Amino acid sequence: MSDIRVRFAPSPTGYVHIGSLRTALYDYIFAKQKGGKYILRIEDTDRTRYVDDAIENLINSLLWAGIEHDEGVFLEDGKIVQKGEYGPYIQSERLDIYKKYIEILLEKGLAYYCFCTKERLDSIREEQKKAGCLKGYDGHCRNLSEEEVKAKLDAGESYTIRLKMPEDKEIVFDDLVRGKITINSNEVDDQVLIKSDGFPTYHFAVVVDDYLMKITHVIRGEEWITSTPKHVYMFEAFGWEAPKYVHLPTVLNNEKKKLSKRHGDVAVSDFKEKGYLPEALVNYLALVGWSPESNKEFFTVEELINEFSFDRVSKTGGVFDRDKLKWVNANYIRNADVEKITELAIPYLIKDGYIKEEDVESKYEWIKALVASIKDRLSYIGEIDEKAKFLFDNEIKPENEETLEVLKGEQVPTLLDAFKEELDELDQIDEEFSKKIMKTIGKKTKIKGKQLFMPVRAALSGQLHGPDLDKIIYVLGKQNILNRIEYVKDNYLN
Ligand code: GLU
Repeated sequence: MSDIRVRFAPSPTGYVHIGSLRTALYDYIFAKQKGGKYILRIEDTDRTRYVDDAIENLINSLLWAGIEHDEGVFLEDGKIVQKGEYGPYIQSERLDIYKKYIEILLEKGLAYYCFCTKERLDSIREEQKKAGCLKGYDGHCRNLSEEEVKAKLDAGESYTIRLKMPEDKEIVFDDLVRGKITINSNEVDDQVLIKSDGFPTYHFAVVVDDYLMKITHVIRGEEWITSTPKHVYMFEAFGWEAPKYVHLPTVLNNEKKKLSKRHGDVAVSDFKEKGYLPEALVNYLALVGWSPESNKEFFTVEELINEFSFDRVSKTGGVFDRDKLKWVNANYIRNADVEKITELAIPYLIKDGYIKEEDVESKYEWIKALVASIKDRLSYIGEIDEKAKFLFDNEIKPENEETLEVLKGEQVPTLLDAFKEELDELDQIDEEFSKKIMKTIGKKTKIKGKQLFMPVRAALSGQLHGPDLDKIIYVLGKQNILNRIEYVKDNYLN
């Protein structure tokens, strides 16, 4: 076991964004690769953004994706529990700790009380806006004397505590993706560390916790890169060694804009509900922002653990291409066992009204055959409604002119009669029959190839392309086929 410790530190704001899942995945892969620990910490100090059940949903999304952490916050029998030596792992339960550490900064003169009212802060922001330069806090309370501070505290004035950024100091840190980054402290605002409600801000809590939890690598989205100098400076102010930083490129949509809800699904749970396979989503997500040495596209988690490196994480945004994800997912579905896909498909088939829950057991083999017939055409399991529809409606509607033309072929009545005759002699269709029937009809009618297959396919499904004909025949069964033949004869034949 190495000393490597990484953490995924989401704020429980309601759902897990696909970009956050990628961060968690890289955390997980990196920890596994190095024999380290991966920790889940909950950053819930912004009480205005708090959402009920968000922690449960978050953990469930991570578990579904198979990204399991070693330490931190877990769900056991539906209850939130915490495990590990460095807890609590929920920031709102660590307020005493933050209190203790802010005292240290205050004592060292590295943080200060700020009594500025919201109105004052708003008005300086307005002025700065007008002047066209948003410089941030103007340092109004930076140099209050001890007496002034005491008097205001005694008078019960509301306050925040701010970090006293030093003047004109070079702050340097190494980013494992972007290299050395240097920022002058004059460009960094005096960040609020403790808010007027007594809660720490993210910036303060993250530093204290990353230190106390012995985090060695902070892996997070690039939107935090401008905050990193504040964090690095705080580590220095406390006299602690800062962790290594890795800022990941933002996940973008096809138009190279930040992936947002307005452009479709972005929550992990959306993909789960649609019936994406977690292993496919994880595989594809790993490649959004990281490129392997070869041009390989399919990776198991084990392979990712072996091959991943921050050297090959890009500095610019990674595009989340929904069509590509669909394609990857379709591959996983195609390569999965019918049994597995059947299990996943059953809830959708029930929901879509194709089967009844109470029939699942008795009809299991048939359901499996149904799934087998369309499995290779599914991009995600939720598509089963659309792809299975034709198996449940005997009123055949040719999907286009071409299909209708095929049905009007002069050999079609002969073919359908021959099919009907074979069926009339039968109790029910078994797999053997469904495999042989076309051959039998072919022999009987002396019609071959396209002339034989296309009309039968069109008559049974209304389509010229689709699942294997023998599978369709088996799944439809005797009575449905007879009904379809009848319907086609009555409606479309010349
Ligand atoms: N709580 C932050 C978030 O929601 C975490 C940022 C970090 O990893 O430092 O994204």
